[in-house]
Amino acid sequence: MAKKANSSNHCSFCGRSEQEVNLLISGMTGFICDMCAEQAHEIVNDSFKGNEKSDIGLTLSSLPKPTHIKEFLDQYVINQDSAKRFLSVSVYNHYKRILQKTTKDDVEIEKSNIIMVGATGTGKTLLARTIAKLLQVPFTIVDATVLTEAGYVGEDIESILTRLLQVADYNVSAAERGIVFIDEIDKIARKSDNPSITRDVSGEGVQQGLLKLLEGSVVNVPPQGGRKHPEQRMISVNTKNILFICGGAFDGIEKKIAQRLNTRVVGYAASNQTAVIDRSNLMKYITPLDLKSFGLIPEIIGRLPVLTYLEPLDRDALLRILVEPRNSIIKQYQKLFEMDGVTLTFASDAYEYIVDKAIEFKLGARGLRSIVEAIMIEAMFTLPTTEEKKKMHVTREYAAHQLENSDLHHLRVA
Ligand code: ADP
Repeated sequence: MAKKANSSNHCSFCGRSEQEVNLLISGMTGFICDMCAEQAHEIVNDSFKGNEKSDIGLTLSSLPKPTHIKEFLDQYVINQDSAKRFLSVSVYNHYKRILQKTTKDDVEIEKSNIIMVGATGTGKTLLARTIAKLLQVPFTIVDATVLTEAGYVGEDIESILTRLLQVADYNVSAAERGIVFIDEIDKIARKSDNPSITRDVSGEGVQQGLLKLLEGSVVNVPPQGGRKHPEQRMISVNTKNILFICGGAFDGIEKKIAQRLNTRVVGYAASNQTAVIDRSNLMKYITPLDLKSFGLIPEIIGRLPVLTYLEPLDRDALLRILVEPRNSIIKQYQKLFEMDGVTLTFASDAYEYIVDKAIEFKLGARGLRSIVEAIMIEAMFTLPTTEEKKKMHVTREYAAHQLENSDLHHLRVA
């Protein structure tokens, strides 16, 4: 036990003698003065600050920072820098919000649900899925098109949370900090900009239902999904800390953006402004106003404060998607072949052929996989039982031959 030291002793940390300090405490082999002890106490406190574990097992210091989140996304998703940045920041802020302690200043960080707008197959779902992988939180994808207002044919809004509960193995507190990706949010848009007088069970009604989920409330969820009925036991789920990421193609929204941009630029300095507008990618000018013109109700838009867009994928992006991501399509096939002891390689013009076909068939990134599958099916069928084959090189000619003999090739006429 530490005891008071005598007058000839000095603090082993700052060197001050006993006369110069209020208190000198002796240890086994040295001394510490009151000032150094206090400083040490502060250092210890500081190093633990932000490391106090919350009830969700996350700590502020262990949270991936936005730049790290983006680096992680870069490994799986090609391009889409703007969406990646928005997502990284909102996810980081979302978890800061969950970790925030009630402070005296009453500053409460609000939820940062996200809406991503971009053509189908440009990586919206992939982005959301990859984020969930990084954070290791329950994640589910729901399709907004199946949702209808309670009492109508289709699924109740609460079914969204049933899915989340299921992936969380019915661990309610895990589900309560999960991520829900609502796909095709544009399909529940109001059919016209004016509130309708007739019932719109799959449009505005659903948006109203979604509102309470997005803003955070306690919702009674049927554990097995389906319709709610009185005798079913319900599970209460608080959506306050669930992050909602919505995605939609919003077909035709460019027209609304263009209209808005045109009306804006009429008049003073008009020629200046039109000059800088990139007409080939109007999506990047999207604002909440355009979502409203498209038919989302203002309350929903208000609950989706982070709005970002995805760029169309050009030929170069498709080529990179084929080979670059950590689990790119080509790497997946190479792995499959490797398991049979076969080294699979491709000629670079074979890659170009695959991408050109995806563009020709208007399949985009989603089509790359089916094209590669059609090209590789023959080899995957025969190689496992072929003894001598240890290497396979796919040339453009081989790829073309296989694809032209496949069912997929008939897509050309479609
Ligand atoms: P969306 O949700 O925008 O309709 P997805 O994210 O489901 O599109 O994309 C479909 C598939 O296309 C993905 O599984 C992925 O293989 C590929 N893909 C699309 N966009 C990208 C991208 N930017 N980077 C890498 N792969 C992509």
